[in-house]
Parts: sequence; C-alpha cells; structure tokens
Amino acid sequence: MAKTLIKNAEIITAKDTDKYYIGILNDTIQVISKELPQGYEDAQVIDAEGKIAVPGMVNTHTHAAMTLLRSYADDMVLMDWLQNKIWPAEDGLTDDDIYWGTMLSIAEMLKTGTTCFADMYFAMNRVADAVEETGIRAALSRGLTGFSDENYAKLEENAALFKERHNSAGGRIHVMLGPHAPYTCSVEYLKNVIAKAQQLGSEIHIHLCETKGEVDNCIKEHGMSPIKLMDSLGMFECGTLAAHSVHVDEEDMAIMAAKHVRVAHNPQSNLKLASGIAPVPAMLKHGITVGFGTDGTSSNNNLDMLEECRLAAMLHKNMTGDPEIIPAAQALAMATSEGAKALGFADVGKIEAGQKADIVLYNMNKPYWHPRNDRTSLFVYAANANEADTVLVNGKVLMQNGELLYIDLEKVYAEADARARRLTNK
Ligand SMILES: [Zn+2]
Repeated sequence: MAKTLIKNAEIITAKDTDKYYIGILNDTIQVISKELPQGYEDAQVIDAEGKIAVPGMVNTHTHAAMTLLRSYADDMVLMDWLQNKIWPAEDGLTDDDIYWGTMLSIAEMLKTGTTCFADMYFAMNRVADAVEETGIRAALSRGLTGFSDENYAKLEENAALFKERHNSAGGRIHVMLGPHAPYTCSVEYLKNVIAKAQQLGSEIHIHLCETKGEVDNCIKEHGMSPIKLMDSLGMFECGTLAAHSVHVDEEDMAIMAAKHVRVAHNPQSNLKLASGIAPVPAMLKHGITVGFGTDGTSSNNNLDMLEECRLAAMLHKNMTGDPEIIPAAQALAMATSEGAKALGFADVGKIEAGQKADIVLYNMNKPYWHPRNDRTSLFVYAANANEADTVLVNGKVLMQNGELLYIDLEKVYAEADARARRLTNK
C-alpha cells in the first residue's frame, strides 16, 4: 500500500484558509484534516507550504498529437484549414509521430495543471501507451471518418482499443468510439458505429454543430439539425460527449438535456477559427453538463486549460451582459469535476475523501496571488497555469518542484521538432 501525505496545503474549495493534511492511500484521497491523520507516519510527505491545492483540470476535447502541427497553419476558416493544410499534413503521420506528438502534449498538460484529457485521433494504441507510461488520465477515441465499406477497419480498430484498453492502467484509461462528425461520416456509417457502441457498451465522442455551415448543410441534406439527426439514429442512448455544440437551438438543447449529452466547450478554438460562440449559459439552464476543452493545438496553439476557463467565464458574461453568469467557482467546477463527469470519470475532479487523488499544487509566492481576498477568484482570473509546481494523478506524483518525473523533456522536444519538420517539409 502506497501512502502519500500532503501537509500545509491550502485547499481552493475549502471554506477557510487553514492548512490541511491530505492523506492519500494508493490512488484515492482517504482523509482531509487539520490534524495529522493516524496511520500516515511512514507516508511519503509533500510539504505544500506556500502552495494551494487545486483539483487537476480536465481537458474535455483535444487531438493531442496535433501539437506536431502547432503554428503550421493559422488564420484560416475551418474547412479551408482542414482540407488544404491539416488533412494533407496528417496523411504523412506515422504511429511513432503520434506517440511523440502526444508525449509533447502530455508534458504541456501536466506542466499547466491538467491531469486528464479526452483525445480523438489515430494510432490510439500508441496514445494509450503514452498515457500509460506518463501516468496521466485520459478518455481515448479513434477518430472515425467514413462513407464506404473500406472505412470499417477503423471502426474495428476502435472496438479493439475498447476491448484491450478500456479501464486499463489502473482505471486511468477510458475508451470511447470517435465518429469524427456528421459531415465526415455517412448516416450508414454512423448507424454502424452506434450499433458497435451498443454491442460494446462504449460511449461516443463526436464533433457536433461546430459551424453554422455544418448545421445548414445537415438540414439541407437530412431535413434536420445534427443534434436531431444523431438523436434519430439512437446515438445519445449510448452516452455522448459532443465537442463544440456552437450552433444549437432551444429544441436541440432540450434533446441534449433529456438524453444526457455532455458538451466539450472549446471557446478559444471556436474564436480562432471564427466558428461562433456556444450558448453555454442556455445549456447550463437546461441542466446540460458542460466542460472546457482546448481542441487540437493547431486550432488553439496551446493546451493551457486555465486560459479556457478564464476565457469562458468572461466571454459569456459579455454575451449575456450579465457579470453573474459563470462565476469563478462555477468556472473552476466546469474545468475540473464537471469535465470529469463529461468523460465518465465519476470520482475525479474534487479534493474530497473518496475521490481519486488528481491534485495540483500551485505556487502562490507570486505578486498576482496577493492580496488574497478570494482564492478561487484569484485562480480563475489572475493565476498563471505555469505556476503548477507539483502534480499527482491517481495518487502518484508525476511532477515535483516543476520537474516532470517520468518524461524526458529534451528527448520529447527533439523528437517533436524533427518529426514536425518532416511533416510540414520545412
Ligand atoms: Zn476537435
């Protein structure tokens, strides 16, 4: 049994500013107390003096290996960007490229306080290897696109990934099926994906209603919105994580709420690609679970979840003209526990006894952490994610004093840079 004891920790969600002991047994927070808990005399001790404990952030939508295409093609609209830049470059990707691109992403995520991510890409076995080796938590799906029979091999690959890796690595890996989007999959193909999900008992991760053009085309072709089309096919009965959901109306949202569709809100990616702004306050009013995501780094450029959290809180205040919309505490919950819920991790995202020990200690010895009128507000509106000092996932220390313990950064940088040069012919 591995025991870890964090001492002198302020906890962001605690009602007071006292210092706490956080006792961790194996992968789970066992006790939180102001007194030294019994049975931790021989534990590994982490002194959190001057630091604040925050639940690890959950990135609910990304394409991790796209870090290899970071800054390769910017300032374009979605379809032009995909068809003329991203897809041709992706054609050259090898499985090892994806492994190293994912390693670069995981390093960036851990260093900025993200402990869990939802990924949709290719060579997901290699992505699962990277997740397993580095100790991070993830919900993985193989991106599926298809209009003809030849694409069923990808679906079988995703199904095999589910059978082999779902709930593996001590429960850190979840696997979902990943039909890319209604505009990259035929209805026939989607029906097969849904049938496979039902057969496996797996959930689905899909891009839905990202652009107005996507919704207009879907209505033209199928006579209904993408949400209604997916609902008519029975997708939502499987449990669905919908990335973006920018262009959804009241009827769509009523369906999403009734069918427990969870939303990955990617404000920065949507703004950068000029896709629009998702009606998140209306979704929350409907009771829809909404988490934040970065999307791939080619459409966003970094994986800093605190930026997404801060942007979302401020963006929706402006969209509604109401400064009370998505207050700091709610934004933090959406970046942590709500995101975990969206990915099907029920006991992740809070610093409470019984939760998985996914904890980040941020250094508060910085000008912007003073004065401390409200620590939640400081974290959401003032803090810098790069001040993450110590990171634990599933009870294991993955970063200490700002140093990643299981990732050779120099090697990751060298591999990523060389592979990116080859892919983009630069
Ligand atoms: Zn995406």
